[in-house]
Amino acid sequence: MPAKLPHVRQIHGVRRSFATAVSRPPLSALSSVARAKAEQISAEWKGTSASGGNTKNFVGGEFVESQTSEWIDVVDPATQTLLTRVPETTSSEFKQAVDAASEAYKTWSRSSVLTRQRFVLELQHLLRKNADAVANSIVLEQGKTIADAQGDLLRGLQVVESASGIATALLGDTIEVSKDMDTSTRRLPLGVCASIAPFNFPAMIPLWTIPMAIATGNTLIVKPSERDPGAAMIIAELCQRAGLPAGVLNVVHGTVPTVNAICDNSSIRAISFVGGDRAGRHIYERGRKTGKRVQVNMGAKNHAVVMPDANKNHTLNSLVGAAFGAAGQRCMAISVAVLVGDSQGWLPELCERALRLKVKQGFEQGADLGPVISPAAKRRITGLIASAEEQGGGIILDGRDLEVPGYPDGNWVGPTVIEATADMRCYREEIFGPVLIVLKADTLDDALAIINANPYGNGTAIFTQSGATARKFEREVEVGQVGINVPIPVPLPMFSWSGNKASFLGDVPFYGRSGIDFYTQNKTTTALWKAEDAIGNKASVDMPTHH
Ligand code: NAD
Repeated sequence: MPAKLPHVRQIHGVRRSFATAVSRPPLSALSSVARAKAEQISAEWKGTSASGGNTKNFVGGEFVESQTSEWIDVVDPATQTLLTRVPETTSSEFKQAVDAASEAYKTWSRSSVLTRQRFVLELQHLLRKNADAVANSIVLEQGKTIADAQGDLLRGLQVVESASGIATALLGDTIEVSKDMDTSTRRLPLGVCASIAPFNFPAMIPLWTIPMAIATGNTLIVKPSERDPGAAMIIAELCQRAGLPAGVLNVVHGTVPTVNAICDNSSIRAISFVGGDRAGRHIYERGRKTGKRVQVNMGAKNHAVVMPDANKNHTLNSLVGAAFGAAGQRCMAISVAVLVGDSQGWLPELCERALRLKVKQGFEQGADLGPVISPAAKRRITGLIASAEEQGGGIILDGRDLEVPGYPDGNWVGPTVIEATADMRCYREEIFGPVLIVLKADTLDDALAIINANPYGNGTAIFTQSGATARKFEREVEVGQVGINVPIPVPLPMFSWSGNKASFLGDVPFYGRSGIDFYTQNKTTTALWKAEDAIGNKASVDMPTHH
């Protein structure tokens, strides 16, 4: 048995109840740094506020205040301060967005590919220039650290950069099939598309779809998470500054009614969704009923297998970073470590390293992870930790009692490590918090059996110094994204997302070559132009520009 760390609870102090944490403190509850950044966002960006004003919809090139009577509070997860409110978009406002996108489609779909490429290039430039604004908005609303927020934008920016190769990506095929007869296949856009995003990557996930959908000639309606809409609003304004014509990108806010309106609208041809299982399955089924193309990325349980021959220092640092970074709120976070054989003796050191992480508000110096998104998320996470206790699991490191000085109302959960078995709720359900479940296995085959029996298939990793072990694992594991000594193997956008099993519904995944496939349909044309019918005897001497 590994050594227990009974001192952890004392270090974390008194456990807080969040049942009453619903009143909204004034803006002065933010730190002076956070407040200055919040006020700067409100002053500089048309679509959103971080100091208590309303977030607008972006429809037909205008940032418009909704006339709805239903508003959703967006609060700082470290203090519960009201930053902004998002509207539950009314059905007539939603229709205006679809109409604007349908109208814009008529011209945008016929625009030159070079025009679309130039938009993408300009957008990547503006995103880099305004990266701090996007990252600040993410820290305020989502709670992650500033370094992590910059990474959130950067991973999305990489998709924008890859979309700048759109002219080459859209090249079709052609062949002369018989004398004077040619068959060609071209990739054409679908029409109005929609993108529905989760809270955990407020910049990256909208940017998985915005450049891909728009560069391929579609128009798009984005529905950001109602919990952190700011980054999407800043990105929308940057799209406008990058020269995107009115109506090509629209942003509407809301919750289930707005999502259902997207699923049911017959003018919308495709939906990209990233989020939880319940919403994902619902959107897939409802969207398919109206004949839409739907791609759905959902929940995960990502296992890391630790072999006894692994580089211990690299492995432990990788596990700690990937399990607890972003407070475990990454769909590719390592949420289960399968310790094989002698590597089980590394557990105390793993906990010691986890304990060294600094849990703080995201702008604070030295913060390694911030709060979880909401009091409800905290209750769910701590409830699952408690369920492990009830089912006989060992809470080796307990982050439930964490208090962070100066932030009494934050949704804090410290790094938590639970020794469990595969039948326990804490293993079977996605926790989506800074909790690492530890399972033990005698052999690589046992570890593979555990992973392959799990319904999810988003990501997995193995730590080993043996090429043969790594190769066997890579070949036999039934998970779509595999890291070998790499804890979070998120593919860069020259590749495509490839989560599988219960983590994905649909046929064509996100970004990369698949992203182009998802947002286009082929048109195959066969034409006969007989040589004997040719006319014309005067050449044009001007340089062709194709505009
Ligand atoms: P969520 O499902 O609660 O929300 C995602 C979106 O769906 C939001 O825009 C929300 O407004 C909408 N929504 C929520 N419930 C709905 C319902 N019942 N009907 C219709 N629409 C609904 O997800 P979240 O909490 O924002 O994000 C966390 C989840 O996202 C985790 O499960 C995580 O694994 C998953 N995720 C997956 C990936 C991936 O690529 N596989 C990436 C990021 C996040």
